[in-house]
Amino acid sequence: MPSSPSAAALQPPPAFATRAVAVGGSPIREILALTARPGVISFAGGLPAPELFDTEGLRAAYGAAFATSASRALQYSTTEGAPELREAVAARATARGLETAADDVLITTGSQQALALITATLVEPGDVVLVENPTYLAALQCFAMAGARVIPVPCDEQGILPDALAEVVTKERPKLLYSVPTFQNPTGRTLPGGRRAAVAEIAARLGLWLVEDDPYGDLRFEGAEIPWLAAHPGARDRTALLGSFSKIMAPGLRLGWLRAPVALRRAAVVAKQAADLHTSTVDQLAAAHYLREADLDAHIGTVRTAYRARRDALLAGLGAALPAGSTWNRPEGGMFVWARLPEGHDATTLLKVAIAHDVAFVPGAPFHTGTPDPRTLRLSFTTHTPTEIEEGLNRLQQAAATAAAC
Ligand code: PMP
Repeated sequence: MPSSPSAAALQPPPAFATRAVAVGGSPIREILALTARPGVISFAGGLPAPELFDTEGLRAAYGAAFATSASRALQYSTTEGAPELREAVAARATARGLETAADDVLITTGSQQALALITATLVEPGDVVLVENPTYLAALQCFAMAGARVIPVPCDEQGILPDALAEVVTKERPKLLYSVPTFQNPTGRTLPGGRRAAVAEIAARLGLWLVEDDPYGDLRFEGAEIPWLAAHPGARDRTALLGSFSKIMAPGLRLGWLRAPVALRRAAVVAKQAADLHTSTVDQLAAAHYLREADLDAHIGTVRTAYRARRDALLAGLGAALPAGSTWNRPEGGMFVWARLPEGHDATTLLKVAIAHDVAFVPGAPFHTGTPDPRTLRLSFTTHTPTEIEEGLNRLQQAAATAAAC
């Protein structure tokens, strides 16, 4: 038997990397754990409605992937992704007004991985990354992991203010601007076309990469589609466009994609080789079968109709549920409504009372960079029926009344 060293001779292993201790876990996941109790009506999660998944269609697509090409589906494959899925992604992007070839596309393990690959490719410790304020929490985590200095760009109800962006770019010399221009997480905001053109022009004039994250753009219930930032002339050679099948097919597939100029895409391919070699072959082939055999746009139509009714139910009752003087927006799509409590109120305090009343939302503070706005909150309308939403809002009204009496 090998002799064990005496306790005095034991040396502790070396410390974790700074990034592993500097970046905290997501406070939202902690809130979600609290609200996962049965009976809670939750406006907190950012999850697609599971009853709307096309389970049968996807089961058939997996069956077809095995029946027609099991040895390929179960084998290692190329880092760039299955050619037929890249083709299908390119065709969908082209149909949305951005001419795209299969070669322009890299399939990723969720669009979250595309963000991680772009960050690994572009950001050195100390580099400045610009973000909307507030913005998507896991993007903030990703940039923090890379040691970036994250600086918020002043925004209003429609998103980035182009003049303020130009000023920050001139002063801070950032590597990139990360933006979720359509039905943003957490605010549901959409950047108008004119501002997109201005952002693209600034990026071209002042020298800046753009990362356009668009997991929600297909979920438009009303209003005219607005061209991607990536489609503007100044942005074409400097935009990484991130797409996802999570909100239109199912997030458990973990399928996303990246469209980027050739040099950036090649560097991202190398980063992906280091990360996971390639995205699951069987999932890619099943998705490609689905896109060929099923009608994804018809399915998206079903999801849009359901979400629209849910958004309307939330908007119809929010005024009565929140304290008088609260304000909120009316997104034309996506999954989120953003609200602000009146002066003197705090969304985290309200959440504690709300959870006791079996209803939940997410306070807006963690999505902010710099000084948070404690009066803001995010409400997701996707995972409950209009009737349940109505009941959730009744509970929220009671919680707000209880909180006011405290
Ligand atoms: N970007 C944004 C803005 C998101 O809200 C999400 C998921 N909620 C993602 C990226 C990641 O999506 P996925 O990895 O599932 O494609």
